[in-house]
Amino acid sequence: KIVVLDGYTLNPGDISWSGLEEHGELTVYDRTPADKIVERIGNAEIIFTNKTPLTRETFDRCPEIRFVGVLATGYNVVDTEYAKSRGIPVTNIPTYGTAAVAQFAFALLLELCHHVGAHSDSVHKGDWTKCPDFCYWNYPLVELAGKTFGIIGFGRIGQAAARIAQAMGMKVLAYDQFFDPKLENDELKYARLDELFAGSDVISLHCPLFPSTQGIINKTNIAKMKDGVMIINTSRGPLVVEQDLAKALNSGKVAGAALDVVSTEPIGSGNVLLKVQNCIITPHIAWAPRESRNRLMNIAVDNLKAFLSG
Ligand code: NAD
Repeated sequence: KIVVLDGYTLNPGDISWSGLEEHGELTVYDRTPADKIVERIGNAEIIFTNKTPLTRETFDRCPEIRFVGVLATGYNVVDTEYAKSRGIPVTNIPTYGTAAVAQFAFALLLELCHHVGAHSDSVHKGDWTKCPDFCYWNYPLVELAGKTFGIIGFGRIGQAAARIAQAMGMKVLAYDQFFDPKLENDELKYARLDELFAGSDVISLHCPLFPSTQGIINKTNIAKMKDGVMIINTSRGPLVVEQDLAKALNSGKVAGAALDVVSTEPIGSGNVLLKVQNCIITPHIAWAPRESRNRLMNIAVDNLKAFLSG
């Protein structure tokens, strides 16, 4: 028995599930609320989840689980230590969306720099260049060439983002707990975290959510950044202390932030970031071009096959 707890994220109408169907009796739920997780898993052995949490309690109450496939790169929704202690392999899908997420980080950054949406809205409303309703100076444009792009987490997506930044004429500072000096070049240098905070015009987060990275964008670190810095987060919401970022946006210390991820998803109506200016928020969609979702499904099936073949 194979259960997918939150298939809606893959858009089942768009992506074929036949690769999973070949391996068992497949049930795909669109979404599973917390109070239905145990009931829906029942005695199924193979579980796929994207964002539905699998806790220690779930594993205890669903003793038939033999395999967990996370339909995502980040696997913080699963208590992997506990799964490991019970001999249950947990697989993730690290490579399917590398290009898509790096591209999205730049979609966010370019929107902060150009306000394409706001300018287009003005034109659609009939205001071509009429001030004050529409004026370039209400939405100042920013040129990126020559500026410094700071990357926290220089893995697959961080490196793909660096290639785009360099193609745009930016210098890159990269911080990672493991850094291969062979990756350095004239315009791409490894930096300690404090050097990156002090030297970057844009800071883009590409590290996973771990206790060591949680809250890495906080008031102490924001104080070390350049005035007018821009912050991009396509990684995980809890990397940012949202109250601290909101204050920094309101004071102008941070000129703009663009976030594909927030501390609680879906975002709560009380989230402080909904009320600040110059903060773009998208609903965790960086990974979602159709090309990426197809790749994700194919790798999920390969992971299951690898498990079934021992
Ligand atoms: P990756 O594993 O290739 O790279 C992560 C890098 O972070 C690694 O080089 C690792 O050494 C580094 N790192 C780990 N702990 C660190 C620390 N304490 N300080 C600095 N660096 C540290 O992962 P990836 O494929 O590049 O993905 C990065 C993240 O992007 C994922 O963890 C996930 O949270 C996020 N993601 C988001 C979306 C989306 O739709 N928004 C989609 C896919 C992935």
